[in-house]
Amino acid sequence: MTKGNINVSVENIFPLIKKFLYSDHEIFLRELISNATDATLKLKHLTSIGDAKVEYGNPKIEVKIDKEGKKLHIIDQGLGMTSDEVEKYINQVAFSGAEEFLDKYKDSAKDSGIIGHFGLGFYSAFMVAEKVEIITKSFKDEPAAHWTCDGSPEFTLEASDKTERGTEIILHIAEDSTEFLKENRIKELLLKYNKFMPIPIKFGTKEVNDPDFTPKTTKDKDGKETTEPHKQITVDNIINNPNPAWTKQPADLKEEDYKGFYHELYPMQFEEPLFNIHLNVDYPFNLTGILYFPKMGQDLNIQKDKIQLYQNQVYVTDNVEGIVPEFLTMLRGVIDSPDIPLNVSRSYLQADGAVKKISSYITRKVADKLKSLFNNNREDFEAKWNDIKIVIEYGMLSEDKFFEKADAFALYPTVDGKYFTYEELFNKLKANQTDKDGKLVILYTSDKDAQHSYIESAKAKGYEVLLLDSPIVSHLIQKLESTKENVTFARVDGDHVNNLIKKDETTISKLDEDQTKALDELLKEVIPSEKFMVQLEAMDSNESPFTITQPEFMRRMKEMQATGGGGGMNMFGSMPEMYNLVVNTNSELVSEILNTKTKKKQERLVTQSLDLARLSQGLLKGEELTNFIKRSYEMIK
Ligand code: ADP
Ligand code: MG
Repeated sequence: MTKGNINVSVENIFPLIKKFLYSDHEIFLRELISNATDATLKLKHLTSIGDAKVEYGNPKIEVKIDKEGKKLHIIDQGLGMTSDEVEKYINQVAFSGAEEFLDKYKDSAKDSGIIGHFGLGFYSAFMVAEKVEIITKSFKDEPAAHWTCDGSPEFTLEASDKTERGTEIILHIAEDSTEFLKENRIKELLLKYNKFMPIPIKFGTKEVNDPDFTPKTTKDKDGKETTEPHKQITVDNIINNPNPAWTKQPADLKEEDYKGFYHELYPMQFEEPLFNIHLNVDYPFNLTGILYFPKMGQDLNIQKDKIQLYQNQVYVTDNVEGIVPEFLTMLRGVIDSPDIPLNVSRSYLQADGAVKKISSYITRKVADKLKSLFNNNREDFEAKWNDIKIVIEYGMLSEDKFFEKADAFALYPTVDGKYFTYEELFNKLKANQTDKDGKLVILYTSDKDAQHSYIESAKAKGYEVLLLDSPIVSHLIQKLESTKENVTFARVDGDHVNNLIKKDETTISKLDEDQTKALDELLKEVIPSEKFMVQLEAMDSNESPFTITQPEFMRRMKEMQATGGGGGMNMFGSMPEMYNLVVNTNSELVSEILNTKTKKKQERLVTQSLDLARLSQGLLKGEELTNFIKRSYEMIK
């Protein structure tokens, strides 16, 4: 037996290890299973190239709880270690690795979640164990070794009588870590970190129906059928799927496989994903994965199931911020890359060149997929538009590269359920909706019901009205106006339709100068000037007599304020609601008001007309609404 000190230069790193990742103690299991997996895959490689003359077989990793003995066992059938190798890899390499890791990060431990995800390795066992044993037998023809360390820098190394190839790690669980002797806790960890690891992991056994047994059905004399019970057999309880969908070739997967994998990833998710994007690159970095577009409503903040980040099938985190462009963090799925540096802080990650490349690759890939979905089945794409537009519009706003690519598939739906790309829209509208200054005016509504009468007026002129109802649409419009040439967006209730798209034609007013003056004065007396700017317009006589509008510019600034951005425009948020009141001087009602004899009756007509205009904008509420209804009853009496 050998006794020795792991490293004399350090008094005792074990208490440090234990304290270091106070919240992340659970990762010890992932580290040990990763080592077991590495050892198994190394053996696979050696046998495949003929360097290990042993039978690889169907190795698995077993995790076993010994409640009485207060021990946790992790057993693999990998390449094992000789006594010399234990000395070298455990006492020297792994130890100095752990030491270096601690040295580097002990001060920044609180920095961010990703530190400590990887790097502490074998010695993370001491976060939960007061004593650790390694019993290992190399695939080489050498005796097995037994290493023990009780948490001081002292270790013992002796021969063991283990005969099967592989390594068994025995953790003597410390008093304060007995949670790791509970079956449910271990199961939870295995499912969190090891659900898709490449070597089968056994945790206990389970009873299943014997596949070789067919229960017999017999009939009694009355013809009643009875089937004998199925024969049960005990099998290993394998908790992981060693071959998850993302590790396969897209050509080998069907639509059901992708959907099935989605539910495997998110067992609590009952809704089907809309579509998926299979990522697969090996140059200039390695990355595989599958991203899913879930059904998304208008809410930017709902995001329960997140994208999971893996490194060689080992779960790392579900915080992919910095790796995936922000607008795509609304998606779900898996990204697996050995090239993402994991044991560094977030700020470093964001500046890392490889990570930037990964992020722009993902953006490009998503754009390409959207384009091909659009090209291959436009009808289906249109049907899904409402559920995906928020991601696409957000992407167009935040990533210029994506904005450019999105021209090919971003859709602009009309109130009548037609969908145009920008180019189609432009060609369709340019003849009828170009104003006298040569600017194309694109009309839109944010609410088909609330702005119904304005939509009707626009349609009566043969104009198309888009339905743009995302919460971020005002930002997007701003971006489109500044990128596309000679185009402006106008919400249908921004002004009277004649003013929204100004053409050269002018209508002559029926009123002479005196009548105009009289009308103006009357309106000034009745209409509250702090709420409405009165605007007299000579329009078609059958156009609505009173119309309330809110100028596009002011409304949009307010909206942009509400959804963030639009820096330095605070003044608009706090400005009172101001509306325009467009009065059609050619309408019959206006003539009638002017011809009405008593002042009192005139005022009543104006108030009533104003209220009707407010009503159609949803602006009549409370006491004013009550008064309006009372007045209306009196008028029809
Ligand atoms: P890393 O896995 O990053 O190399 P670890 O501290 O986790 O660092 O492990 C140190 C070394 O100990 C490994 O590189 C390997 O050589 C050896 N080792 C650990 N666990 C096993 C195991 N189950 N089977 C064989 N070798 C192992
Ligand atoms: Mg390791």
